[in-house]
Amino acid sequence: MTGSLPRGHAKLPVPVRYRITPVDPAAHLFEVVVDIAEPLAGGQQLALPAWIPGSYMIREFARHIVAIAAESERQAVSLTKLDKHTWQAAHCDRSLRVTYRVYAWDPSVRAAHLDDGHGFFNGTSVFLRAIGLEDRPHEVDLRPPAGRTYRDWRVATTLPEKDAPRHGFGTYVADDYDALIDHPVEMGTFRLERFDAAGVPHEIAYTGAIPHFDAARVDADLAVLCAAQIDFFGSPAPFDRYVFLTAVSGDGYGGLEHRASTALQTSRDALPAVGERDGERSTGYLTFLGLVSHEYFHSWNVKRIKPAAFAPYDLSRENYTSLLWVFEGFTSYYDDLFLVRTGLATEAQYLAMLAKTIDDVASGVGRTTQSIAESSFDAWVKYYRQDENTPNAVVSYYKKGSLVALCLDLYIREQSRGRASLDHAMRHLWERYGRRFYAGERRAQRQGLAEQDFAAEVAEATGVDVSDVVARWAYGTDELPIAALFERVGLAVDRDAAKPAASLDAKLATAGNETRLATVTLGGAAHAAGLAAGDLLVAIDGLRVTPPRMAALLARYRPGDAVTIAAFRNDVLTTRKLTLGTTVAATRIVATPKAARRAVDARRRWLGPG
Ligand code: ZN
Repeated sequence: MTGSLPRGHAKLPVPVRYRITPVDPAAHLFEVVVDIAEPLAGGQQLALPAWIPGSYMIREFARHIVAIAAESERQAVSLTKLDKHTWQAAHCDRSLRVTYRVYAWDPSVRAAHLDDGHGFFNGTSVFLRAIGLEDRPHEVDLRPPAGRTYRDWRVATTLPEKDAPRHGFGTYVADDYDALIDHPVEMGTFRLERFDAAGVPHEIAYTGAIPHFDAARVDADLAVLCAAQIDFFGSPAPFDRYVFLTAVSGDGYGGLEHRASTALQTSRDALPAVGERDGERSTGYLTFLGLVSHEYFHSWNVKRIKPAAFAPYDLSRENYTSLLWVFEGFTSYYDDLFLVRTGLATEAQYLAMLAKTIDDVASGVGRTTQSIAESSFDAWVKYYRQDENTPNAVVSYYKKGSLVALCLDLYIREQSRGRASLDHAMRHLWERYGRRFYAGERRAQRQGLAEQDFAAEVAEATGVDVSDVVARWAYGTDELPIAALFERVGLAVDRDAAKPAASLDAKLATAGNETRLATVTLGGAAHAAGLAAGDLLVAIDGLRVTPPRMAALLARYRPGDAVTIAAFRNDVLTTRKLTLGTTVAATRIVATPKAARRAVDARRRWLGPG
């Protein structure tokens, strides 16, 4: 009998086993117990991640650990804190147990949240990593809060069950620590919806104050969207089941991708009303569908096709890569593109979304000084830590990255005479970096996309040399030739015909009866007049500025008119002469009348069902 364990052999203990209990929901406290069967010699170290993959900022989750103690066989074991997120237990010969509490009151998708209504956590916020044992199997026992109040609570997670029933409390398993922290957990009385896409069961768990809405329509639309993406990369999907953990609130928006689930936040108003089925989907609902599409596309692009810097992640510090424009930017391109390709958005709606992105990128001076490759690398300290100077210094690797994807797609289609597209490049990256290494989710060899290999991979997939345009568009700050590329698909970039209006060339922020400059555009009118972010506007030409009257005051002037601005900087009054600038009219993308047949066909291939 080779290759199998002898029968009757004592059951081996699980190397790392957690138990997590919402111990005091009103105080937002989870209690976590971790049992390490064979702690490493010399003293086991444990640490909480400094960041969560998908959100590129050091968040120091360990700051929410409020009490921690260790023991072995009921004897106390001393714990020494080595740095802000690492503890070292004294050496012990037998199993080690560490017990701690985690304060969970972060409403975002990135951390943990607990009250008497529900509990949500990412493993990165609650599970101490047993250093050196990360690759061993992990187990977690999910417990409900005590008391009758919570008897209806259920569990939504894609962690594989060991003895827990589906949607129930009990024991779940993970191949390793990386898997453990990549399946967030929702517990409470969520509303559960189910649908199949390409034969894969999907669920939506809605939590929060859920309005009356057309849940069946969302199920049907998501089924179409998910099936299209699975089909795009090729069956089978890289997960056995998928769950959308969806928190509904007044004004929520956001998402964080995981290998078989995503944590989403949406506003109530974005969910479609019952009886709204006729006609086009609303802008708000399309925003929700775009978010879903974005996070779902990440299941392939970033969760499995990864930059080399993330294979594997170093959870203790920043992981630098210049490629977030590929992983976030391309995902931002495909999210809305899938809406039009599946017919969820009309072509006109899609082109309006593209036009808005073009305007958003064009309005930031940062695009002239920072490339999206630099923005990717510095995400940790710039894009994720925005301030009043961000529009002048930082370009979004999401937004400009999506426009670079658009340009690359149209460029490859043109250069290959319609034989290839960015789709071919994505599928090639999936075969090379994704499917090969992640079939069956086994923890196998991992290989990420190296910084310098992107253009060569695209060339291999499409036969088109993109090295020069990638250098200029992604690693340089050249303006993108969107108008020229649109011509090839029978589209033209137009400006709204509205009369240009006068502008301070600054973003305003209002609070109560006050109007302040939130950001001042480098090289614009307010900058030239010496005004600064934070200045409180008092009067224009002697007339008092109030938030409701601001637009009417400015509307009396034309671009180029000189005005006198009175403003407080801190508590000092200052008066400045200012020559008004011009607001930029909104972009419109329109079909070229009498476009060549070839261009119209190329557009159909690009935006059609593929
Ligand atoms: Zn993303």
